[in-house]
This record gives sequence, structure tokens and C-alpha cells, in this order.
Amino acid sequence: MRYTKLGTTGINASVISFGGIPIQRVSKEAAVEILQACKEGGINFIDTARLYTDSEEKIGGYFNQHGREGWYVASKSPARDYYGMFKDLRMSLHDLACDYIDLYQLHNVSTPEDMERVLGSGGALEALEEAKEQGLIRHIGLTGHKPEILEPGVSSGRFETLQVPFNAMEKQALPLLKKARQKGMGTIAMKPLAGGALTVAAAALDYIINSNWIDVAIPGMQSVAEVKDNCSVLEGKVTDKQRQELEKLIAGLGTHFCRRCEYCQPCPSGLKIPAMFLFEGYYTRYNLKEWALERYAALPVKASDCSQCGLCESRCPYELPIREMLKQTAATLEK
Ligand code: SF4
Ligand code: SF4
Repeated sequence: MRYTKLGTTGINASVISFGGIPIQRVSKEAAVEILQACKEGGINFIDTARLYTDSEEKIGGYFNQHGREGWYVASKSPARDYYGMFKDLRMSLHDLACDYIDLYQLHNVSTPEDMERVLGSGGALEALEEAKEQGLIRHIGLTGHKPEILEPGVSSGRFETLQVPFNAMEKQALPLLKKARQKGMGTIAMKPLAGGALTVAAAALDYIINSNWIDVAIPGMQSVAEVKDNCSVLEGKVTDKQRQELEKLIAGLGTHFCRRCEYCQPCPSGLKIPAMFLFEGYYTRYNLKEWALERYAALPVKASDCSQCGLCESRCPYELPIREMLKQTAATLEK
């Protein structure tokens, strides 16, 4: 494993670190095994969030068994006001079984109004600045998907890290990452494998960690095998064939594809939206037709059960036309 300074925070993080979204899908026991495999592979930085259902709790369960020593812990909250942020921070500390958190971030600031609220008087940032003085957190970070919205936060000089989507096919945050770097902020790449769509993981991670603009990439991992694969990226040399495969994959994906972030959930009709798109992708892109049809058939609620309420689209940070995409999924997997 290779380690790097996360901006000027003093955190010496593994360049490939742990994204906490996918452990929502595994048992508590499996989460402990995955985190232990991370430790053995040299990963020392965990990123999770209040919004990732039981992810913080599972990580806390791991710390209760194996201790927190040697780990840097990052989490985040969607609260926008002072009291909401303090409440969330206390819950994070409780669920993570920690008496301090290394990096606490404002989660997915996505509108100019939100940014104004968090930076303003009585805003969430005031709470984090106080929490830092009290020793409850060590550093304050900002996360989001839209560079133009995040820009005032970066310019404010009040954040120590920036976390944005960045990978071999999504480079729209590059100018903001450069600015963050110039200000001494640490940079964290979320969705380094585009939510699992970039299946040539070695080439995709290699691209990011050699990009010069990212300190730490946080691929989500939901099995020990995935942890081992990701940790081994730094050992071998990425081949030209792998790079070509990655380019081919990117060319075929376009921009309208699901990154499995799960921000659109829950759906009032009970649709597991990212799972639908995952199975459709396996059917159309990866030629695993039978596998995809079998798993799709086992879902209790199908794409055609969508009531068209539109709630999911208002939550999707990638502004995907989910309802239209679900029609396509139904046409492909329910014929
Ligand atoms: S539009 Fe369909 S998929 Fe989206 S939240 Fe409503 S019912 Fe669920
Ligand atoms: S549809 Fe959008 S919000 Fe839902 S998982 Fe996919 S990318 Fe995330």
C-alpha cells in the first residue's frame, strides 16, 4: 500500500481507502471480515455517512471487536443547520463507537441555497467548527457532486478536504480539485469505479492515483475478494490491454448510467432502483443474460411497478431520468 498526506490535515492515508456504501448490503459478520481484510491490506482510512443506513453501526461493531487504533475515520451528515449537525455528529460518534472522528464532512451540498445555509450564521459549519474546538472532530470536509455549487465552500477557506466524484470517465470536477489543492485542501475521489460500472478496477484506480489531483480514492467494497483486488492494484503494473478495456468500457457507458449511490432510495413503491439498473447492465453490457434475468425475477417489486411519482429523480445527484430508464429496464428484463 502507498500512503499520502491528505492535504494539510496531517492525516497519512492509504491512497486506496474504504468507501462505506456497499457494506450496507452485507451482514454485520461479513462487514467485520471485510474491514479486517482492509487492515491486512494496508487500508487505514474509512469513509462513511449518516445516510448510509447501518454502515456506521457496522464499522462501530468492527471497532468494538478489533479496536480503532491505526484507523482514520471519516463520516458526514446532510444536516444544514447548527442543531441538526450537532445531533447527527453525536449519533455518528455513538454508532461508530468513537470518542472523536478524524474528518466530518458536510454531505452532498447540492444547491446554492444549501451552501448559503451551511456557511451562514446558525449553519451546519458553525457546529462543526465548535465540535473541532471541543475535540469531537479533528478536521472538517465538504462533499458534493456539482463543482459549481461547491466552489464557494472551497473559496471560503473553512474546509480542509473536498470529496467529489472523479474517475477515468467523470472529470468535470478537475478545475475545482486544482483550486482545492492550491488552497492546501485534501482531495478525495468518490465513485472511483463509477459505482462499479468501471469493472476494469486495476486500470480505473491506477488512473486516479496517478492523476496528480487526488490524494485518496475510496472505492466501495462489499467482499474480501474486492478488498484484495483493490489492494493489489499498487503491486502489479497495469497492462495496455487493461487500459484499452477501460477505454472501451467508457465509450460504451455514455453518461446516463447509475452509480449505485442509493441516494434515490427509499422508493415509496418499494423498488430497489440501483439493483434494477445493475441487472440491466449485466444483461446488456456484460453478456450475463441468464444471471441477470434470474436475479431480476427474484425481486419482489419490478421496474414496471413504478408509480411515476418522481421522488427518486429529485434525489438523484446525477439527475438521471430514472422513470424513463426504468421503462427501458422493464422492456429489457420483463419481456
Ligand atoms: S418514480 Fe417510481 S422508482 Fe421513483 S420513487 Fe416514484 S415509484 Fe419509486
Ligand atoms: S439512480 Fe441515481 S441516486 Fe439512484 S443509485 Fe443510481 S445514481 Fe444513485
